[in-house]
Amino acid sequence: MSGDIHSCIFCRIVRGEIPSRKVYEDEHILAFHDINPASPVHFLMVPKRHLVNLLDADLSHQALLGHLFGSVGKLARQEGLGDGFRVIVNNGKSGGQEVYHLHVHVRGSPGGAVRETVAE
Ligand code: 5GP
Ligand code: ZN
Repeated sequence: MSGDIHSCIFCRIVRGEIPSRKVYEDEHILAFHDINPASPVHFLMVPKRHLVNLLDADLSHQALLGHLFGSVGKLARQEGLGDGFRVIVNNGKSGGQEVYHLHVHVRGSPGGAVRETVAE
């Protein structure tokens, strides 16, 4: 599994070792388009610092998580999802997580009224 920061795919994307289509970057977070989009707009938001998932998070991560989730709306609007969108965070094996670096999926259809299914 992509557990340590050397082999973790998203750490490698953060370091620029693997290319990505960037949506946004600041000191603490990076957002980039999902390589296999499940919606017309589908991007991922990750903390730059390696964190496995929300099972590994606690109140010591409050500022980072606040920064991450507090930036979702701005980026969703920037990508044309001002009418609404879906946020998904998969956690652990039973939660369908494939990449073990915390990430927020932001998915939607710009201007679209089509209701997507919740199932992954
Ligand atoms: P998970 O199932 O862990 O919540 O989702 C992992 C997501 O990462 C999947 O939607 C998958 O398409 C995406 N992904 C995996 N590897 C890469 C990659 O190298 N680049 C990008 N942009 N997305 C990736
Ligand atoms: Zn990582």
